[in-house]
Formats: sequence, structure tokens, C-alpha cells
Amino acid sequence: MPRPIFATIHTAALSHNLARARAAAPDARVWAVVKANAYGHGIERVFDALRSADGFALLDLAEAQRLRALDWRGPILLLEGCFDARDLELCSRLGLWHAIHCNEQIDWLAAHKTRLPHRVFLKMNSGMNRLGFTPERYRAAWTRLNALPQVDEISLMTHFSDADGPKGIAVQLKAFDAVTHDLPGERTLSNSAATLRHGEVLAGRSDWVRPGIAVYGSAPDFPDHSAADWGLQPTMTLASRIIGVQHLVAGDTVGYGSGFTADGPLRIGVVACGYADGYPRHCSTGTPVLVNGVRTRMVARVSMDMITVDLTPVPDAGMGAEVTLWGQSSGGAALPIDEVAQAGGTVGYELMCALALRVPVLAD
Ligand SMILES: *Cc1c(COP(=O)(O)O)cnc(C)c1O
Repeated sequence: MPRPIFATIHTAALSHNLARARAAAPDARVWAVVKANAYGHGIERVFDALRSADGFALLDLAEAQRLRALDWRGPILLLEGCFDARDLELCSRLGLWHAIHCNEQIDWLAAHKTRLPHRVFLKMNSGMNRLGFTPERYRAAWTRLNALPQVDEISLMTHFSDADGPKGIAVQLKAFDAVTHDLPGERTLSNSAATLRHGEVLAGRSDWVRPGIAVYGSAPDFPDHSAADWGLQPTMTLASRIIGVQHLVAGDTVGYGSGFTADGPLRIGVVACGYADGYPRHCSTGTPVLVNGVRTRMVARVSMDMITVDLTPVPDAGMGAEVTLWGQSSGGAALPIDEVAQAGGTVGYELMCALALRVPVLAD
């Protein structure tokens, strides 16, 4: 028998969440962001559920090829554009739209031979200081692109650093507006957090939104809001079983480094799930977990292949009992991935993306 750990992708929840994102930006078209193998869910597994999207956004050319292999004929946007001049050949062949964030990418395009001109998304660095032209250099880049026979249509793009937090989007939005107000072309500004939190300010200014994490049922601004607050449903469950039980007395310790000490009699379940499955090693005693759908806590350190859980709230649970690491139990009890991520000092994004290859994945 294989180890009892497995992940389930909830395809109906993916469709539901995409519809939620659309409802938050009713005037815009929606890119479903499927980078990082659809945030760990698997591009092929999510495709059918997300095919009502207006386009797919990602950044790995091999992933773009996989979408075309699924016979997706609609728009695909490379969020970081090309990494090398030779990538442009694939863009031409597969009809990929691509970001332009630096002069080198314009040089490559100017030297590229293509039958059909490309649609490009000129990216502004409006304050995040990762990719893009600063506001001072943006118009020169636009003018240069506009003169190229290789370019068909220029769209305008930026990315917010603080759409999920107290700083918000006002400063970046002002910088973007100041430079682009009289430029033609479609605009795309919003990730999930901007789409959900700043929809009113952005209404009418944005032709495309780019939700990622919201589609995967995690709140972009947890703990300000939970996924349920936003009407989002979990799209990934990680489940396993109890493969051993220990009966502790006061003073007994558990796991490497004796990371937990019992202060009285305690029944401990050993779960077939560890950091080699993608469970965050930084989680420690107190991290929530469901056993037979009942909420309890992880205790001690996470090992490579096992974690240990307190069975006090589930006296009937023993060998083979169902354990939900995140997502939904078979009886419908929920454990938001964001709560587990928070206990491990990280975000839901990382947990989804880090789901290990050795974990079998089903789609329901
Ligand atoms: C990843 C990404 C998104 C989606 O971000 P979420 O926070 O997952 O919604 C949007 N735009 C760009 C440029 C990205 O890289």
C-alpha cells in the first residue's frame, strides 16, 4: 500500500473562485494566473475549471507550451516577458503576449523576425522596484516600441506592492496615471488583493485583472480577511492518516530535539506527513490540524516524513484516522490553508506551491 498521504484539487471551487474574482471587477476581463504550475495545483488539472477565464497569465515558457498543448487558443500573457532573445520565436509561434520591462527586451524585439507582429504589455515600475520602466523612462520605452514593425498593440501594465496592506495602492496608482493618462492601450493593474480590496477605486481604469491566489481559495490579505470573508472556497486539501499512536506520561518528550514535553498523560498520533511532502517545517506545537474532522494541534517538530498530533479532543481516533493538514475533511470540516501558513510564519501561496512531487494528487 502507498503511504496514505494525498492531495485533492477541488475543481468546482476553482470555478467558483474565478467567478468571485470576476464579480469583483465586473467591467474587466480576467487573466487566471497559473504560474508555478497553477500555484502547485497542476496546470492540466485546473485547466477545465478555469477555461471560462479570458486568458491565462504565467511566466514560464514551458508552461505556456503546456497550455497550448491543451488546445487553449485564447490569450496567454508572459508576465515577465522573454528571458532571452530566442524566446521570441516561441512567442511568435504560439501567439504569446509578453511583458516588456526593460530595454534589452525591446532590443531583442527590434532584431526579431516575425510574420505577425506581437501584442506586448509595457510594464511600469511604479514603486515596487522589481521589474519595469520607471515613470521617467516609461514614455520613451512606449515611443520606441510604438515605432517597431514587430509590435502590434501596446498594453500598459503595473504591479502593486501593498494592495494587501495598510499602505495601499494610492501612490503607485498616481504614478501610473500621471504617465499613462493620455496613452492609448488597455490597462492591467490588479493582482488578487487589488481586485478584492480596491475594486471601487480601480473600476473603469482597468481592462484586465490578474487574480492568482484568490482563484486558489486563499485570502491575499489574511488575517485582515479570511478566504471565507471574501467568499472564496478552498481548492486544495492535503490529507493523510495516523500511522502510529503513543501514550505519553508527564515528562515524556516527542520527536527530534525533544521538541515537546508532555505535562501529563497524553495520547499522540503519528501522521504520515512531513516536510518532504511540503508541510512547512517552521510549524511547531500549536499549529492547527484536523483529526477525523475535529480540530486539534500539532505537537513537537516537523520531521521529514512525520508529524505528531495531540489526540485529546478525539478520543476515538486511532490507527488509520483521517488527518486533514489543510483544506477540507471528508465530513466537510474546514481548515484554511492560511491558518496553517500563519502558524509556520509563511503564506498560503508558499504551501500550495511547495506541495511535493511525491504526494499523489487527485482532482474531484
Ligand atoms: C503572481 C502575479 C499576479 C497574481 O498575484 P496574486 O497575489 O496571486 O493574485 C499578478 N500579477 C503579476 C505580475 C504576478 O506576478
